[in-house]
Formats: sequence, structure tokens, C-alpha cells
Amino acid sequence: MNFPSKLIEDAVVEISKLPGIGKKSALRLVLHLLKREETQTQLLADALIAMRTKTTFCRKCHNISDDELCQICSSPRRDQNIICVVEDTRDVLAIENTAQYRGLYHVLGGIISPLMGVGPNDLYIDSLLKRIEQADENEKVQEVILALSPTMEGDTTAFYLQKKLKAYPVKISTIARGIPIGGDLEYTDEVTLGRSILSRIAYD
Ligand SMILES: [Zn+2]
Repeated sequence: MNFPSKLIEDAVVEISKLPGIGKKSALRLVLHLLKREETQTQLLADALIAMRTKTTFCRKCHNISDDELCQICSSPRRDQNIICVVEDTRDVLAIENTAQYRGLYHVLGGIISPLMGVGPNDLYIDSLLKRIEQADENEKVQEVILALSPTMEGDTTAFYLQKKLKAYPVKISTIARGIPIGGDLEYTDEVTLGRSILSRIAYD
């Protein structure tokens, strides 16, 4: 692709590094920005930099957060007695979009995968157990929902967690498998996912 300007080329190259965006689409976005007010580009750049530099991870559930404690953990409207364990932030978003779940989350930051060299110690499993151990009057965990993808890695992780959780007086449940095998939570439709959270079953 030939560019009339090195600056335009630089912008196209950077944007086309994003997933799902080829050079043609990137050029279209760049030309669009050039046609709009300069402030539009400034707002976009500011938002991207703020997003990248100021977001952090919730110290309790490890979800992406603007503050030390995320909006879900700090909300008085959430049920403090239930923790839903998920692989990453995309799963939190998928479950939140169903508007069916009012408990808290725990983001593992991945999934056990011997092939990828990811073991239990690479994940936030100890901090999950600590949350259960350190429960107080206001937050006493009664149920842990394992909402992991129905893949081999998801099953391995659920099995490992269940073995660890058995030592505590908590109910262990899993989301019902209305979800296609091998499908990620992220891509499951909201109605199915919402229903499967409501009709969760005991982990055996
Ligand atoms: Zn949190």
C-alpha cells in the first residue's frame, strides 16, 4: 500500500495492529479522523492513554477497575455471600450483561493449561481461598459458582478448585450446561447464560 504521507502511514500501521483490523480498514479510520474536527482525535487519544495508564485491578476480585476496589465489590447492592469464579474480565462482562446475577466475582486471570504452561500458582486461586477464610459478618461466603468454559482446561480448573474448596463450609455449584461444548462464555447468548446462572447445579 502506498501512502501520500509518512504520518498517515504510521497511524495506519499502528491501528492495523489491532485484532480484526486490516490495513484497508485502518486507512478508512484514519481518513475519517482527518475529515472530522481535530478535537475528536484528541478525545480518542486521551481516552486511550487514560484507559491504558489509569486502569488497575481490583485488590479483592482482580477484575479491571478504575479504583483499588471495583464497582461491583464496593456496591452495597451486591450479595456478598456468593462468589462467581471466572477466567477473565470478558466473562464478568458477559455475565453482567445478563442482569441475572447479583453476587460478587473472582477473576482467576487465566485457566489451568499444562500445554500452555499455566499451573494453579499462576492464577489467583490462593486469594480466592483467602477471601473465603477471611470472611466477616458482612461478607461470609456461602456459595462459590464455578463459571468456567466447558473445555478441557475449564474442567481441569473447576476440578482443581473444587478439591481446594471442599475444605471450607461453602456450597460449590457450576453453571448449567446449556452452553455448547467448547464454546466460551463470552460468545454464549445472554438469555442462555442468564438462565444457566439462575439454574446452576451442585458441582459433583
Ligand atoms: Zn472487585
